[in-house]
Amino acid sequence: MATKRKYLIAGNWKMNKTAPDGVELIKGILAEIGTQTEVGVAICPPFTALESAAKALSEANNIQLGAQNMHPEPDGAYTGEISASMLRTFYVSYVILGHSERRQYFGETDAFINQKVLASLENNLKPILCVGETIEQREAGQTLAVIEEQVKGGLAGVDKKHAESIVVAYEPVWAIGTGKTATPEMAQEVHAAIRKMLADVLGAEAADKIRLLYGGSMKPANAAELLAEKDIDGGLIGGAALEAKSFAKLVEAAA
Ligand code: PGA
Repeated sequence: MATKRKYLIAGNWKMNKTAPDGVELIKGILAEIGTQTEVGVAICPPFTALESAAKALSEANNIQLGAQNMHPEPDGAYTGEISASMLRTFYVSYVILGHSERRQYFGETDAFINQKVLASLENNLKPILCVGETIEQREAGQTLAVIEEQVKGGLAGVDKKHAESIVVAYEPVWAIGTGKTATPEMAQEVHAAIRKMLADVLGAEAADKIRLLYGGSMKPANAAELLAEKDIDGGLIGGAALEAKSFAKLVEAAA
């Protein structure tokens, strides 16, 4: 029997919000979503806002904290980097890994992202592995081949016992921050293919438990139809997560 996957709405704040601005946004989100627990909610502020965010969330049990990146090594001479255990001290539960902006601007490869995925799971962090094709790759008919390399490369060596902790976000690069969204049919086609790829590597039972998020200009106006698709289990949201009311509307759309 198919698992009922709990939806996850995750806000990726990117390089936005100082620590005090982040606290204000959290207060606004809590005021909007109240005590709902039907939908899983996560926010991923910049590293510098994590500690104050953890404090602002200390009495809320319905928003979890995520980071936007981490280094795979436990410690050492990696100037400017942050380890999994450092994130854990701020009660971080999720970590976004392999976001297309990191792949594009910081040269992150599938092999490096894979090391981070493995390190995150070892440290009880839930990886949100991001995958997605560029517009050139889509137009050349390479979408599924590109995604397969990213999914299988990113999850190499992962044990299926971690299935419930793994999240994969499909974010077509051409849809991120552009206002262009994949149609629900386009997104579902890729999500179904990802589920199949996950079944190839981890088995069908594990694949059925893994949450697949859509990301790329998701907003209140288009969320309901995307979230209605069978293999879309939530969203990874950038722009619309920076404002309490629009983020709360996305949580509502997933309920
Ligand atoms: P966007 O960003 O919602 O602003 O398109 C999504 C993301 O990059 O995670």
